[in-house]
Amino acid sequence: MSIDLRSDTVTRPTAAMRAAMADAEVGDDVYGEDPTVTELERRVAELLGHEAAVFTPTGSLANQLGMRLLVAPGEEIVCDSQAHVVRAELGAAATFSGITTRTWDAPRGLLDPDVVRAFVRPNSGPYLVSTTAIAVENTHNFGGGTVQPLVALQAVREIADEHGMAVHLDGARLWNAHVASGVPLHSYGAVADTVSVCLSKGLGAPVGSVLASSAERIASARVWRKRYGAGMRQAGILAAAGLHALDHHVERLAEDHARAQRLAFVIAEAVDDVVVPEHVETNIVVLDLAPTSWTAAALAAAAREEGVLISALGPTFARLVTHLDVDDEGLDHASDVLNRLLRSAP
Ligand SMILES: *Cc1c(COP(=O)(O)O)cnc(C)c1O
Repeated sequence: MSIDLRSDTVTRPTAAMRAAMADAEVGDDVYGEDPTVTELERRVAELLGHEAAVFTPTGSLANQLGMRLLVAPGEEIVCDSQAHVVRAELGAAATFSGITTRTWDAPRGLLDPDVVRAFVRPNSGPYLVSTTAIAVENTHNFGGGTVQPLVALQAVREIADEHGMAVHLDGARLWNAHVASGVPLHSYGAVADTVSVCLSKGLGAPVGSVLASSAERIASARVWRKRYGAGMRQAGILAAAGLHALDHHVERLAEDHARAQRLAFVIAEAVDDVVVPEHVETNIVVLDLAPTSWTAAALAAAAREEGVLISALGPTFARLVTHLDVDDEGLDHASDVLNRLLRSAP
């Protein structure tokens, strides 16, 4: 038995999802003629309370299109230092859009409006870099699936409005935030000028993300998407997986959250101070192994021997993610293995 907890991107499309993909009506989406892509874009825009949306192959592209629509070359977007847009998109904002970044530290990735207020430097004139946008991430991936409180997001929106700045929301796992908090998706959507969401994470689609914004910005995003080489043709095959996921895989995220909780409790029982179960709000469990004699790499290697795959993301930083392809039996096996390993020395 192999249980893959490295990421929620490792899911394989279900039989029902594959059937929906096979049956999809398609056309050439570069001509705007793929009804399934158009329907997915319409539906996500509506869910997020935005005018329009554009389908992209990856979340990174959705983020990069969103940021380039908000920030001119030589200006900056600010965010926390663990944000996916600065840690895991390989400098794309600088490479493709001439955007600079500045980051603040945020324990667990949790958004603190007071920190943001003190940090931004709008309209800085000819000497300092001007902040033109703020990027926020919900849930926060490297922070451990942290759900940003709606009031904090709204406060950041107000700060942006006071200074004429924009807000980009990296909502790769906004579905998880919505299910965990009960906050409607459009309430999250309302705090941002551009919002990206992934269909290929917890929702279990093989490919695909969506960027939502105003009709005008999305028209521009379509031009840039094509310029980046990501104008897709009969992409309805892929969009159909996203539509199927929206119908069948959103509410079930609660099961992933409950399993992540169970896993965190087992680990907290096994070793002190490695994880705080109360901080596990969604489907991500991050471990700081510093108080143990394990490194993340050693734990990952030992777990792999027993068919449990986890991510080592730093010397003592490990990440475990529950998803559509982890059932109770798999979780029990992973819990047993990690419990036994962590109670012993490497
Ligand atoms: C996964 C992820 C993305 C997008 O990743 P892709 O691999 O490019 O689809 C963006 N933001 C966050 C927070 C993510 O976890």
